[in-house]
Amino acid sequence: MHAARNLRLCTKDCVCLFICPTGATNTENGQIDFEKCLDGCRLCVDACSSGAIYLVSSTYPKPQPKEEGVVKAIFDLARSKAEQEDVARSISEASDDAALRQICSVFEQSSRIIGEDLWRESGYIIAQSEATRTLLKTMIKEHGNLEGFPLEEVEELLSRLS
Ligand code: SF4
Ligand code: SF4
Repeated sequence: MHAARNLRLCTKDCVCLFICPTGATNTENGQIDFEKCLDGCRLCVDACSSGAIYLVSSTYPKPQPKEEGVVKAIFDLARSKAEQEDVARSISEASDDAALRQICSVFEQSSRIIGEDLWRESGYIIAQSEATRTLLKTMIKEHGNLEGFPLEEVEELLSRLS
């Protein structure tokens, strides 16, 4: 364990600077120095009246492998959300009805947010991860020749993530 500081809550009354036995709380950038933190002795946590300091684990277990069926179901749902987003946008762009455009706009945004959450749940939250690169390579292989597929953009993204 080690301590971390939420700068938004910190009122800079400096109590933690005096109480930390190693000086880990006294840094230029306001972040607690993990190298100096004594395995989360929590003196600073208890001393901070603002609740700005908390303990975090120094190591995390590896994510569990996902079942193929579960990933496929999440992918299918994410794809349907992307399609719903497209439909809502098309209706909105083609309509002169302000109320309908507003409803479609909300639906478009909510579909986008849910779709992004689903991709995250599928294990693609870190763009630089091997899983994301593999996904992009698979997309190019399986859909690269299809009309409308943004091949140039996906290749550019892949090169930047390497
Ligand atoms: S004791 Fe809490 S509020 Fe005070 S300087 Fe430290 S982190 Fe900030
Ligand atoms: S947990 Fe202990 S060693 Fe770590 S920063 Fe707080 S007071 Fe210092």
